[in-house]
Amino acid sequence: MTPLEYDRTHIWHPYASLGNPPPVNFAKSASGVEIELADGSRLVDAVSSWWCVAHGHNHPAIVEAVRRQSERLCHVMFGGFTHDPAVELSRRLAKIAPPGLDRVFFADSGSISVEVAAKMAVQYQNALGHSERNRLVALKGGYHGDTSLCMALSDPDGMHVLFKGIMTKHFFAEKPSIPTDGEWDAADAESLRRVVDEHGDEIAAIICEPVFQAANAMNFYHPEYLREMRRICDERGILLIFDEIASGLHRTGPRWAHERSGIVPDIMTVGKALTGGHMTLAATLASGEVADVISAGSPSAFMHGPTYMANPLACAAACASLDLFAADDYAAKARAIGARFAEGLSPLRELPNVRDVRVLGAVGVVETDRLPAADDIAGVIRRHGVWLRPFCNFIYAMPPLVSDGKAIDRIIEAVAELASAPPGPPPADGGFHE
Ligand SMILES: *Cc1c(COP(=O)(O)O)cnc(C)c1O
Repeated sequence: MTPLEYDRTHIWHPYASLGNPPPVNFAKSASGVEIELADGSRLVDAVSSWWCVAHGHNHPAIVEAVRRQSERLCHVMFGGFTHDPAVELSRRLAKIAPPGLDRVFFADSGSISVEVAAKMAVQYQNALGHSERNRLVALKGGYHGDTSLCMALSDPDGMHVLFKGIMTKHFFAEKPSIPTDGEWDAADAESLRRVVDEHGDEIAAIICEPVFQAANAMNFYHPEYLREMRRICDERGILLIFDEIASGLHRTGPRWAHERSGIVPDIMTVGKALTGGHMTLAATLASGEVADVISAGSPSAFMHGPTYMANPLACAAACASLDLFAADDYAAKARAIGARFAEGLSPLRELPNVRDVRVLGAVGVVETDRLPAADDIAGVIRRHGVWLRPFCNFIYAMPPLVSDGKAIDRIIEAVAELASAPPGPPPADGGFHE
């Protein structure tokens, strides 16, 4: 059996069938914005390998930081130990976090950091004597990860319907509908107010992806919505959690997407680009108040502790990644990519299969009536040498923030050809696979 045949018959891929597996590319190496395949051809990674690879693949500074750390300490349990990479990373995170969010819990993936955020909120309320506050409010169109608590906080009609039976029921407000630069209308947050009015006493926290709902909706919404959210939370003693795993670290322009709102959450999750796509790591940041209340409660301990918590190699990669963010103007890079996307993608609005084109920072989205057939998508990827992974009815690009104009133009050409292709058959599985 060739490696590829073995893969096809024995290894599950994300959101894929093992009985009827979709084709996969065989990656051999990667550097900069390109992935090299086993046959020697190269693909521009217009997806940043699921939005992580901000500085390009195999960035020498990050590779070197991991190599150096590996010679000293690859891992040690975080129960009973600490180490330089963890302390250094928490200092660096505190420096760039929203004001006051300087307490950190390290998690080994984004989903776990969201679970931790939700548990913090519940333990906080419990410590204040509100043990009945054990539900969260989330937004329709949202996505917070694939573990069971995260599924239960993601769009209730999205990719996780099959598991409804094992999910705790949380509360959902309607998807925000006013665009980021549109004219604010308080009616957009009315459904959120209604949910909180109805269930306020059961609610520990509200969670959302600020401004940019990514994996379930590719929706950009108005920052005033977040200010309204903050007001509602403050009126009711509810905590506010921002999931900046996809939107953070300059993906939409500013360092955190929620900066546009001028308000600060109580808890925030960071992941994906944290290590620049070199190791798996996420973090849950909390305010001193959240930490103090939990610590004064019973138990005083925060009840979570993953085996690979604060893995030194991952923390070293993240420190090097944050150094790269600090050494250059990534907001300007995202803006430049966005300007090119806006110019290159906007004309696609005229195409018969295109419903909408949206751009925010280094995110370009073409919403279609229906995606082209799988073979047409594969053909465009091969011919243009550009890796795209459309889902539902979205063709989108979220390239490395270091992509130059030439790479962005190639991506635009590939997206344009894909948007011009005829719509394919309706997807049997709903097409959910980020
Ligand atoms: C990707 C993502 C997650 C989950 O992160 P994993 O590392 O895949 O577990 C959670 N929230 C948001 C907003 C994400 O985009």
